[in-house]
Amino acid sequence: MTRTISILGATGSIGASTLDLVRRERDKWRVVALTANCQAQELARLAREFGAELAVVADEACLPGLRSALAGSGIAAAGGAAALVEAAARGADMTVAAIVGCAGLAPTMAAIECGKTVALANKEALVSAGDVMTAAVARSGAVLLPVDSEHNAIFQCLAGNDYAHVRAITLTASGGPFRDWSLEQLHAATPAQAIKHPNWDMGAKISVDSATMFNKGLELIEAHHLFPVGLEKLRIVVHPQSVVHSMVEYRDGSTLAQLGPSDMRVPIASCLAWPARMDTPCAPLDLAAIGELTFRAPDEVRFPATALCRAAAEAGGAAPAVLNAANEIAVAAFLASQLPFTRIAVMVEQVLAHYAPPAPAALGDVFAIDAEARRVARDMLELV
Ligand code: NDP
Repeated sequence: MTRTISILGATGSIGASTLDLVRRERDKWRVVALTANCQAQELARLAREFGAELAVVADEACLPGLRSALAGSGIAAAGGAAALVEAAARGADMTVAAIVGCAGLAPTMAAIECGKTVALANKEALVSAGDVMTAAVARSGAVLLPVDSEHNAIFQCLAGNDYAHVRAITLTASGGPFRDWSLEQLHAATPAQAIKHPNWDMGAKISVDSATMFNKGLELIEAHHLFPVGLEKLRIVVHPQSVVHSMVEYRDGSTLAQLGPSDMRVPIASCLAWPARMDTPCAPLDLAAIGELTFRAPDEVRFPATALCRAAAEAGGAAPAVLNAANEIAVAAFLASQLPFTRIAVMVEQVLAHYAPPAPAALGDVFAIDAEARRVARDMLELV
């Protein structure tokens, strides 16, 4: 049976991994919409290869380039924020939400409102919208499948079990490229060093988040919404080999873990085929070759991000959206060499201290909080 699929953020790292799997099972999928921000040539190439109905660039300035690259193909081209939402609202059987940052929130919500299946990679959207998004999922009847390797692991380990039986959920963290760096070394860390992740090949923003450990903090908030067992039951452990992707401990003392190669095609395949399974080209795990799996507690002195995220999750309301927006601005500034690495967490903390709006009740409130938190963060940047 053919299913329809849309990929929001098709030109990115998750987009490429998803399309690689779709390419291997072309007869099973019909591609509805592929989207990008501004990589028009690459988007057009993918849209042609996969025979998409529609290609959309979020940045309207890139639409002429997309139109000319698609000329004669019969594939519709569109541009701008509204077009992105309309593409998501086409309601494919499966929508892969793989835009980076809160920019993915509106289209992800539009896909959720269709009540079909949404495979969520775009963690910033869930962190920012939190209860607003989970309420939309409940209202629309959408199935939200976690792409993030940790949450996908937890989802698999939880299968069929009641939350009441869960004693703890442990998210594993590679620790990133600076895992063993001293504070002095961290002060001098460069963007090129930060985006060179030891285990995973990812987009620039999530790579920096991995280096600061904000990625794990954002994942803690994501887990809090996806698996409502209570924040006190959510833990983080550093596991440099990235083989165990996360674990669920039950009240009887059993701990279930999901293991796999450090290749996002594994969790993406689990979402595409869910509740069945599909083949992937990933090399099977060779535990004898890996030899050792090690674990250690996170160091929240060198990496304060996880504590900041936990506090924001505990505070609830608007705090996670403010934290996420501030982090996005700080990461962009770091990547542009405008902010030292260790100032990312400091800036996020300062924005949280300066801006504490009431909890968002609807999506519009989340957008307003996100916009104002970005403004506060940009103002702070000018003072650095
Ligand atoms: P990339 O930077 O590789 O790709 C991002 C995608 O989003 C691109 O298609 C990009 O288009 C598009 N995009 C960027 N900005 C905008 C915007 N303002 N509006 C619309 N589209 C935009 O990111 P990743 O694939 O690494 O990550 C995507 C999401 O998945 C993130 O939320 C990340 O945290 C999450 N994730 C990623 C993992 C990974 O292994 N990469 C693992 C787990 C989660 P363009 O190419 O035109 O810029």
